[in-house]
Amino acid sequence: MVTSFSDVEGRGDFAADADVVVVGSGAGGGAIAAELAEGGRSVILLEEGGHYTSKDFGLDAPTMIKKLYRNAGSAVILGKPNIIFSEGRCVGGSTVINGGLSWRTPEKVLKRWEWEHGLGDMTPEKLEPFFKKVEERVSVRTQDPESIGRDAELMIEGADKLGYKWVPAMRSQKHCAGSNNCAFGCPTDAKQSVLVTYVPRTIAAGGRLYAGCRVEKITTNGQRATGVVARFRHPETGQKGPKLTVRARVVILACGAIQTPALLLRNRLANSSDQVGRNFLCHPNAKVIGVYDHDIDAYKGVIQGNQIREFLDEGIMITTSMVPPSILAMAMPYFGAKSLEVMRDYRKMLAAGCLVEDTGTGRVSLDMFGEAKMRYDVNDRDFANMIRGVALTSEILFASGAREVLLPFDSLESIKSPDEIRKLYTSTIPKAEVECLTVHAMGTTRMGVDKRSSVVDPHGETWDVPGLFVADAGVFPGPIGVNPQISIMALATRTGRYLLDEEKRYFA
Ligand SMILES: Cc1cc2nc3c(=O)[nH]c(=O)nc-3n(C[C@H](O)[C@H](O)[C@H](O)COP(=O)(O)OP(=O)(O)OC[C@H]3O[C@@H](n4cnc5c(N)ncnc54)[C@H](O)[C@@H]3O)c2cc1C
Ligand code: SF4
Repeated sequence: MVTSFSDVEGRGDFAADADVVVVGSGAGGGAIAAELAEGGRSVILLEEGGHYTSKDFGLDAPTMIKKLYRNAGSAVILGKPNIIFSEGRCVGGSTVINGGLSWRTPEKVLKRWEWEHGLGDMTPEKLEPFFKKVEERVSVRTQDPESIGRDAELMIEGADKLGYKWVPAMRSQKHCAGSNNCAFGCPTDAKQSVLVTYVPRTIAAGGRLYAGCRVEKITTNGQRATGVVARFRHPETGQKGPKLTVRARVVILACGAIQTPALLLRNRLANSSDQVGRNFLCHPNAKVIGVYDHDIDAYKGVIQGNQIREFLDEGIMITTSMVPPSILAMAMPYFGAKSLEVMRDYRKMLAAGCLVEDTGTGRVSLDMFGEAKMRYDVNDRDFANMIRGVALTSEILFASGAREVLLPFDSLESIKSPDEIRKLYTSTIPKAEVECLTVHAMGTTRMGVDKRSSVVDPHGETWDVPGLFVADAGVFPGPIGVNPQISIMALATRTGRYLLDEEKRYFA
């Protein structure tokens, strides 16, 4: 059953009961809701954003951003440099607008989680059944060849010339047409986001979804979590609707690594460690654009056809990352007439990104209105990696025939030959001027074995409030260096399995 704002408009406040209430319907929330509903528990899934489907998805940026994104598409993580951050706010969460790239947590990361955070149960062998299940549910596979764009081919040509290792992209998709509309929702339903996988599974198993319904309060009886109080709001106009009180035996927060800590902080819950909102990780990303003499039409083809993995052990991942013109223009350090002039070459452009696996952390806290605010300063080590990542990406673009490379720096806007790459190391580039973005928030309610330094235990249950769990990217104890959705879904599925196995403890 799906209930949206229009179904309850004008109705009085009401209440509902369930075994489990899941707050947030993105990667983590969708996966755990389906696991529990299919395991026989009654599940209520609450989502602040609206319920849109492929027939609503199009290329008109302002319309789609209003429907699918939080904060009009981008928020700023304040720091040096400021980092532009985007997240979804709709049924399916950020998976509706993401690129669908799908990778397991690298083994070296799991080892680090074991050694540094004591999470010995997170070996590749123990996580295997969860990864396998998730990959089946969201159809992880390589692309059909005809969906790969010229940009991806050029990146491979460049990487091959330089002898750099690359892998074909693994994505959650079924016969993706390569329309490059992922950022505004997949119009063909080829992308196997939570919207078309876990949400229908949850509903088919009897789960109830309330969309346009923002959770404001987590209720407890002083000893354990007892439910939540939510308010319906029209997802686009903000018009207020009735209040919904959900009474549940287990409360699962899956609002994402920014909104979950904000909700906990507003409720003054689960923070005896003072770790809620700390350890904020974000894989800072710098965009580099190759401009060629001829049209590439990189918008014809999936966002990423491959990933260059040569430098993954150093914490640098390089990929193509072509997006519709409106989004690309926003990601470049140009405004007004200059932006128009640069964007005239859109058809000749190849956008690439280098992602840095962060060694530093930031913090999510509350602003004066009680909303999430983010602070993150890229540390010196990660900044050096970022410069190196931009240099390596430029090298690959030149090797693939680019005539010019546009850089994400105000004081060094572009370079015109491989010889000029040296300038990246010889000029002093101030951190504050780098055009940086991210879509990977993690770590703010981290998992651990010590309740003094973590927010949730190895099963995802908050140390302080029995029956209150977190199942989103916030539980990562450290960065993973690759796209995170499969790791989030696998850990959420694992928490769901734990709850089903511990039936007597939680549901008797
Ligand atoms: C543009 C973009 C591209 C990306 N590309 C990739 C990619 O290719 N591969 C990959 O692995 N990852 C990608 N990511 C990242 C990935 O999508 C996210 O890391 C992942 O979806 C996070 O999962 P989550 O469960 O933590 O939160 P989300 O998926 O963001 O879901 C959280 C949900 O909770 C809802 N919510 C928040 N607060 C409340 C509340 N109080 N009450 C009710 N509901 C609430 C939100 O509206 C949202 O729908 C991308 C992200 C973006 C934005
Ligand atoms: S490239 Fe187009 S068809 Fe493929 S998943 Fe993205 S939006 Fe869907």
